[in-house]
Amino acid sequence: MISIKNVQKRFGDNIVLDDINLEIPQSNVFALIGPSGAGKSTLIRTINALEGIEEGEIIVDGSSIHHKQTDINKVRTEIGFVFQSFNLYPFLSALDNVTIAPINVKKMGKQEAQEKGKQLLESLGLGDKINSYPSQLSGGQQQRVAIARALAMDPKVMLFDEPTSALDPEMIKEVLDAIRGLAKSGMTMIVVTHEMGFAREMCDQIVFMADGKIVEVSPPDKFFTNPDSERAKSFLSKVL
Ligand code: ADP
Ligand code: MG
Repeated sequence: MISIKNVQKRFGDNIVLDDINLEIPQSNVFALIGPSGAGKSTLIRTINALEGIEEGEIIVDGSSIHHKQTDINKVRTEIGFVFQSFNLYPFLSALDNVTIAPINVKKMGKQEAQEKGKQLLESLGLGDKINSYPSQLSGGQQQRVAIARALAMDPKVMLFDEPTSALDPEMIKEVLDAIRGLAKSGMTMIVVTHEMGFAREMCDQIVFMADGKIVEVSPPDKFFTNPDSERAKSFLSKVL
């Protein structure tokens, strides 16, 4: 579903993605972990072309994301992205945050978009919040609205960049539960996370990055008990 081949990305002279290769099969959930500055955010931002690349190729469901002839706006509608900061529109209700892109970008009828938006919000436990504004919602609720907003476009893959890092501890679980539900539904996902318990229990593979490189790709049980690399061992000794 996602194929990343020999990708290099530089900011000036700084190589932030150095020969990245990764294949993510449909319905798999990959956790992307590693120290700050490793290039995790940059990597997932290149997947929906929020960042360009200098070399290599990224293919999502058959579309070469950085190819000149690719309609990136169309491809972007197929890739849901959830940020650490929820980035909701403050002057729109939860429901309007969810329906604005289907109505304006996908030209979906307003009624259909609202039906669908209500269903999504209900499925994420926000059935009683559809008319609330972001300022009236907790961080965990806002992040679930952000997830509903991404899902409203019927994405083929979902990318999460530290979706719980800005949340108070008691709200982390409700957002991780929402991501768990998506995994069960068969969504293909990459989740940048510092939640090691979640990564271990939920994810098909752990991708460990450091210094712009993928150091190791291992199944969770192996990664958390007996990682191959010294770099991963040293990282885990600090975070576990
Ligand atoms: P991570 O998400 O793993 O913490 P990032 O992908 O944010 O890492 O950053 C990787 C490297 O790229 C860092 O050295 C960071 O300083 C650099 N970087 C990220 N974004 C930019 C940018 N817009 N301009 C210049 N350097 C950047
Ligand atoms: Mg980051």
